[in-house]
Amino acid sequence: MRLPRLSINDARHLLLERAIPIKEVKTKDLLEANNCVLAKKIISPIDVPLVTNSGMDGYAVEARVSAGKTLEISDRIPAGTLPSSLKKHTAARIFTGAPLPQGADAVIVQEDAIEAEGSVTLPKTLSIGQNVRQAGEDIRAGEEIFSAGHRLRAQDLGLLASIGTSSVSVKRALKVAVLSTGDELVEPGLRPLKFGQLYSSNQVTLLSLLKHWGMDIVDFGIVPDDPIKIAKVFSQASDVADCVITTGGVSVGEEDHVRSQIRNLGELIFWKLNIKPGKPMALGMIGPTPILSLPGNPVSAFVVFLLVAKPFLYALQGDSYKELMYTPASAKFTLEGSSDRQQYLRVRISQSITGLAAELYPHQGSGVFTSVCKSDALAEVPPKTEITNSQSINVLMLDHLISS
Ligand code: AMP
Ligand code: MG
Repeated sequence: MRLPRLSINDARHLLLERAIPIKEVKTKDLLEANNCVLAKKIISPIDVPLVTNSGMDGYAVEARVSAGKTLEISDRIPAGTLPSSLKKHTAARIFTGAPLPQGADAVIVQEDAIEAEGSVTLPKTLSIGQNVRQAGEDIRAGEEIFSAGHRLRAQDLGLLASIGTSSVSVKRALKVAVLSTGDELVEPGLRPLKFGQLYSSNQVTLLSLLKHWGMDIVDFGIVPDDPIKIAKVFSQASDVADCVITTGGVSVGEEDHVRSQIRNLGELIFWKLNIKPGKPMALGMIGPTPILSLPGNPVSAFVVFLLVAKPFLYALQGDSYKELMYTPASAKFTLEGSSDRQQYLRVRISQSITGLAAELYPHQGSGVFTSVCKSDALAEVPPKTEITNSQSINVLMLDHLISS
């Protein structure tokens, strides 16, 4: 059966429909939970801040009756103390974070007041609530601060700490097996290369991205272009991992055995993508385990991994879906002779007075991996589109694609 070429969006959605999130949950201390996906929503048990308090070092007063007055300083309230009520027509010396005394509703910054002999002279205009942090102004008790499926970042861990949480219930790390197919591939470190050989670079790129996303990796290394060996590793990998990623051998050549072995062991769901670089790509199922086969060319593998495999892996991990985030930039190049496929050009981004400028990396070959390392973004060019100089184009910032 001839399978259609899918657009990036169709492929992303088709994969997401197929993604069954893992169910197993673990409890992790906050410091271990960075990059983990919350298994349950988090409701705050407390107001943050817990009590109304001073936002500055200064003097707590009742605003309505104190403007321009010289008032006796009746109390001194450092942070962490329990103040008594403010005596009428007096001021209390107060410090940042200290609870506001009953009866006070404003804090005058110490630089704006003149203190002498146990009294303080206040500015002529005061307003209720100035330099006061209201109880619950950050978080209300009972409020949902994160939903299930949220991937925790450092700042989120800080927010969890602020409501008194010390451990969280998260999805266990997704286990992903990675293998590279190709008779010509050699592990880095082995020398010298024989004629026609090359070092496998996809393996370390993909494994590193998976680690960066907090996933567990199983490294199956290089597998030769041999259907029997490929089938053996595919079934081992699909037994031990939640998802299998392969690169190479998924095109139409006689040495490309990946699709036939997916069909042999399970089901092939789709094959070709309508993008450049990265046309050959397959999704299959071996038993309950999805297998995603990416092109061998390093640029293609990288682009397809980020644009198509990543949202799928995130969905398997239980992460909520995020749309691609495009940034407009002005093209500092022309592109003639449109392609039938959606293109992802590697571009360097710089800041100009009118906004971001995108300069085309000079070598766009799908084997030129330097283009990925020396670029900042992928410029998305829809099928059958030419680009003129200064035209506004949509780019996907690589750092954001990788880390979001
Ligand atoms: P294939 O998809 O197997 O036809 O491979 C396409 C191109 O990518 C060939 O030039 C391969 O040598 C190269 N290639 C395949 N796998 C890798 C890999 N793991 N690392 C670097 N290059 C690779
Ligand atoms: Mg090959």
